[in-house]
Amino acid sequence: MKTYLEKSPREIKRLISSVKEVSRETKMPAYLVGGFPRDLILGVRDWDLDITVEGDGIGFAEKLAKKLDSRLVRHERFGTATLILGDRLKLDVATTRKERYPACACLPLVSSGSLAEDLFRRDFTINAMAIALSGKKGWELIDKYRGKEDLASGKIRVLHRSSFKDDPTRILRGIRFMQRYNFKIEKETLDLLKEAVASGLLHRVHPHRIRDELVLMLKEKDPSAQVKRLHDLAGLSFVSSKLKPGRQTFGLFKSVNKQVSWFMEKLPCYGDFEPWIIYFAALLRPLSREEAKEIIRKLGFTATAAKKILGCRRIGSKLVKSLKRRGIKPARVFSLLKPLSLEEIIFLRSLWSDSLFRRNISDFLGVYNRLRLSITGDDLCRMGVMPGPGFRKILNRVLVARLDGKAGGRRQELALAGKIIRQLQQRSGARCPDMSVSRQR
Ligand code: ATP
Repeated sequence: MKTYLEKSPREIKRLISSVKEVSRETKMPAYLVGGFPRDLILGVRDWDLDITVEGDGIGFAEKLAKKLDSRLVRHERFGTATLILGDRLKLDVATTRKERYPACACLPLVSSGSLAEDLFRRDFTINAMAIALSGKKGWELIDKYRGKEDLASGKIRVLHRSSFKDDPTRILRGIRFMQRYNFKIEKETLDLLKEAVASGLLHRVHPHRIRDELVLMLKEKDPSAQVKRLHDLAGLSFVSSKLKPGRQTFGLFKSVNKQVSWFMEKLPCYGDFEPWIIYFAALLRPLSREEAKEIIRKLGFTATAAKKILGCRRIGSKLVKSLKRRGIKPARVFSLLKPLSLEEIIFLRSLWSDSLFRRNISDFLGVYNRLRLSITGDDLCRMGVMPGPGFRKILNRVLVARLDGKAGGRRQELALAGKIIRQLQQRSGARCPDMSVSRQR
């Protein structure tokens, strides 16, 4: 495996050699496991490393974090720890363990175990390989379940017959890997998967675990193909009996896909953008608002994600009509789109192909929304405004005026801001002394 690893980026090689050092110092055998060996053999770059050690995993991680001067997050309950190593590189350390499932679809009872037991508890043969990093076996690939052979022939295969019964989320994981690598599900595994689906095992899984797997599917390169395969093999009734994606949904997925690619290619300057939210909104589009809300509640999305998903539904026909109108002013486009999240805007652009409509949206994203005023919050503070909601309101109003060509340079912007502040002060009057505009001056 050494030759495979030699092709890895410098940061990864350096990290692995530190793991080897700690393993030597602590005399705890360490192994690279899970997705990393799989992707290494496939020649796919993977920045998530999983290390399993025969011994105290958290203690090992603490020593490694000290050596690398990195931050450590401990997950005491699971006996694991994560090293935070900059933007893209991540390393999880765990103790080799075995799992026992007290009942179908329940979380397992975990206890420490041998490396063989640790590999046996995994989902598929391609994910059950380990690379030894220490001792006589250094750099050796430990491949008890012929994962390398399955990688070469493109097969997804479970390790034992009760795998899907133990953990039905593996049905979703299997479909995800199958689509991602364009693999096939091995015959017996496919029979077991169908049996598990027919027995309704996915309905027994906690909805939050279902949510996590669905989000991972929607984060893959081709979410449409993921959902289509999931729908063909398992249906989606385990999420909701109302969810039956048809031709329209997959057509919308295609359009979302195009718009997301357009956005990522043309406007990479925007951070914090989550395309999976748009796909999820597309999936829920045929449902009523109440049905969509019920699914969002059941899956337990964060308040921010829920707001964005539901936000994609509140796009009204009035907004669409305005954006299709010839001669609409930039300031109007700005005030219509500014309150929406990026995800809502890209969803909107996926819904209609009208060229003027799409151009207005791209002008907003590419020009209006990136326009920077010469004045800043500091100027407003100096004018007696306290930071708060009013702060943004004032700056947006100046920006709108600027888009309409009413405020050219810094002096005009300052004058306009002053005028808006006075208006706000007059409006708040004596009734409400704090309208985010300080009255001290
Ligand atoms: P990805 O490339 O999507 O990150 P991964 O294989 O690294 O894939 P993780 O979810 O990070 O996926 O899991 C790491 C490893 O843990 C897997 O490779 C697999 O060996 C094991 N694993 C994860 N989830 C399960 C599961 N539900 N059942 C059994 N083993 C699992």
